[in-house]
Order: sequence, then structure tokens, then C-alpha cells
Amino acid sequence: MRTQVGIVGAGPAGLLLSHLLALRGIDSLVVEDRSRAYCEARQRAGLLEDGTVKLLREADLAQRLDAEGLEHGGIYLQFAGERHHLDFRDLTGGRTVTIYAQTEIVKDLITRRLADGGALEFEISGTAVAGLDTDRPVLSYTTAGGERREVVCDAIAGCDGFHGICRPSIPPGLLTVRDRDYPYAWLGITADVPPSTDELIYNRHPDGFALHTMRTPQVSRLYLQVPPDDRIEAWPDERIWAALQRRFALPGWELKEGPIFDKAITPMRSFVSSPMRYGRLFLAGDAAHIVPPTGAKGLNLAMADVSVLADALEALLRGDGRPADRYSDTCLRRVWRATHFSWWMTTMLHVTPAADPMTEELQLSQLRYVTSSRAAATSLAENYTGYPPLR
Ligand SMILES: Cc1cc2nc3c(=O)[nH]c(=O)nc-3n(C[C@H](O)[C@H](O)[C@H](O)COP(=O)(O)OP(=O)(O)OC[C@H]3O[C@@H](n4cnc5c(N)ncnc54)[C@H](O)[C@@H]3O)c2cc1C
Repeated sequence: MRTQVGIVGAGPAGLLLSHLLALRGIDSLVVEDRSRAYCEARQRAGLLEDGTVKLLREADLAQRLDAEGLEHGGIYLQFAGERHHLDFRDLTGGRTVTIYAQTEIVKDLITRRLADGGALEFEISGTAVAGLDTDRPVLSYTTAGGERREVVCDAIAGCDGFHGICRPSIPPGLLTVRDRDYPYAWLGITADVPPSTDELIYNRHPDGFALHTMRTPQVSRLYLQVPPDDRIEAWPDERIWAALQRRFALPGWELKEGPIFDKAITPMRSFVSSPMRYGRLFLAGDAAHIVPPTGAKGLNLAMADVSVLADALEALLRGDGRPADRYSDTCLRRVWRATHFSWWMTTMLHVTPAADPMTEELQLSQLRYVTSSRAAATSLAENYTGYPPLR
């Protein structure tokens, strides 16, 4: 079998890349080891930067996003019993972010690829890549029906997330990895209750960080800082709501409760592997880098990578390899900015276990600075809405 670009992984990176290539007249095949239903239901990110929304609009993918997405012009920062608002529109000359769940982006992309006749294979197994240092790399896999296939490609895109097979297929010794684990995790819930806030609340409390975000006007998403080795079974719904009530408490404001229909604990990690290319294999999204979710960057970085990659592959297939040669460096500049911002937000807002009192005072001083200095608030706002702007 033959395709121009073999894409491993039907997450946001792989699906968007396949669509962007189709707009450029380039064939691709996306292979995914999970089912379509699983990919469409996997609860993950939900906040799009200004430039990501513009990218989706340019790619004619924003009909439902424009109808159902919730545009936000700022966030709240809560600490030491006070809640402060940062007005992104004012601070950044009109830039905003949009709440639209990753589940909905994945549904929109799958629907569109299938409507356009795109090749997507779900529930495959035994994915392998070979010949990466030649100009005819081979993607092989076993279909859901049990048939083994070998697909000769011009290039392969490894969009298979942190635990995928593409990054480990690069020969040992060629990648530089920088990583950091954090001494806490996030317990995330999705609940059938209208959000109690108009914009996200990032909250530093002596018990630990908490975040109030949302998915739709009817569905709230909330997070609690928990120990990294905590188990979800230790958190019955009543305990979760009690902890959220304690951390968010503010006179005159009420946190509404409702039935929880999804809950999970996610570890926090910073990870960057470089370069993002080996021969004709190009890594994109979580396959190459992970950020802690505090800065809401993971999904946005994945989409930024593939917008650069689509142009680089178009040029490569025309015989011009220069944009492909620049691909890794171009992406890594944005990745490192987001990695720093995510680390900064994380360390400012979380309670470090067994930290000395000095650490707490430094965090509170930083929060007071960000909420009282226009220069400091502008720095947070421009990073949060996306820096450098993608569009
Ligand atoms: C639990 C969780 C919660 C998160 N919450 C947030 C958040 O609140 N905010 C935020 O900004 N980011 C969040 N993120 C990060 C964000 O969701 C990711 O950055 C985003 O999904 C990256 O997209 P991707 O396409 O690169 O990778 P993924 O979405 O991971 O997609 C990779 C795909 O490859 C498939 N795959 C893997 N191995 C193979 C194989 N061998 N063969 C075929 N297919 C394979 C996987 O099944 C998957 O569908 C979260 C991530 C996780 C894991």
C-alpha cells in the first residue's frame, strides 16, 4: 500500500495534520489503536488560545466551535482569601481564549475527515515504523480485522502521544530529553452542574491548588491538587465537593454542586525531547513534549506543531527540504516558552509538600505582584492567550 504521509495517532495533532494536508492536496492515512468512540470521549483539555481558534477558522473547522465555544476575556486568581480578575482583552489589545472541549474538537475532526473521504483506521494493533532514514519510510500495523499491512510513505508523522511508539523508534543516543516530575497530581472531575463562575478561577489555598473551569454552560470541570500517589478510590464524591468547597470559599459566593460523571487523577510532568525529527519521521504534540496542565498549553502546542508541519511537508514533497530542516527548531521555540510558562504557573499556585515558610511567602508575593502590576499581569495574559501569537 502507498500513501504520502503516514500518521500515527488520531488525537488532535494527527487528525488536524491529516486535514491540513488534505487542504494542500496531500494524501495521508491515520492509524489509531483505540476505537473511534474512545477517542471521542477521552476527557482532557478544554481551553483554546486565540491563535488556535484562528487556525481552526482558517481551516474551515470552526462552525460548531463558533456556535458553542465560550469566549473568555480573562481569568480570576484567588489566594489569601481574595479573588482578583485579570482582563486579557484590556491587557493584550483584545486577545481572548475559548472554552471548547478536546472531545468536541476530536469529534469535529473525525466527522470532517470522514466526510472528505479521508483514510482513518481505528482499533489497529502492532504499529511499527521502519526505514526512517530513507526517503520511503514504512508504516506497518494489523487492522481491526486481523490483516497485517505495510504502507510505503514519503514521510511519517508521529502524533501518537507520550506513550506512543514513534519517539522510541528513533535510534538510541540521538534525542536529548529534559524532564521534571512535580510532587503533586490533579484530581479532575466533570459534573452536571452549571459553572458557578463566568471565567476560570485559579486558586492557591493552604490545602492545595484548585481550579474551576467548565465545558459548556451546563457542565462544570473542577480540579484539586492531590498527592502524586493518591488513588481515585480514596475520593468519594462527597469528599471531593467538601475539599472544593473549602478551597474556593469566599464570602458572598457559592460553589454549586451536581452529579459527577467523570473523575480521574493525572500526574504533572514537564518533558521535552529534541530534535522533533529523525530522517523522514516528524514528531508532533505529546509525542515530543508534555507540560503540566496549569497553563492550558498541551492541546494548543499540539495544534501549533502540526500547522508548522503541514507547511514543511508540503514543501518537502515538492522537493524543497528547507522548511522540514527548520521544523524542529521552529516548534521548540514555542514549546520552551510554553514549558516555562506552565512551570511558572504551576510553581506559583501549588502547595509544595513540606515546603519551608519562605516558599509560601515567595508564592504569595508573586501572586500579589501579578494582580497589582500591569506589567506583570500583561506578561501572564500574553503567555496565557498564546505567545508568540500563532495567527
Ligand atoms: C489525562 C489528561 C488530561 C489532560 N488535561 C489537559 C488540560 O486540562 N489542558 C491541556 O491543555 N492539556 C491537557 N492535557 C494534555 C492534552 O490533552 C494533550 O496535550 C493533547 O491531547 C495532545 O494531543 P496529541 O494529539 O499530541 O496526543 P494524544 O491526544 O495523546 O493523541 C495520541 C493518539 O495516539 C494514539 N496512539 C498511541 N499509541 C499508538 C500506537 N502505537 N498506534 C496507534 N495509535 C497510537 C492514542 O490512542 C491517541 O489517540 C491532558 C492530557 C491527559 C493525558
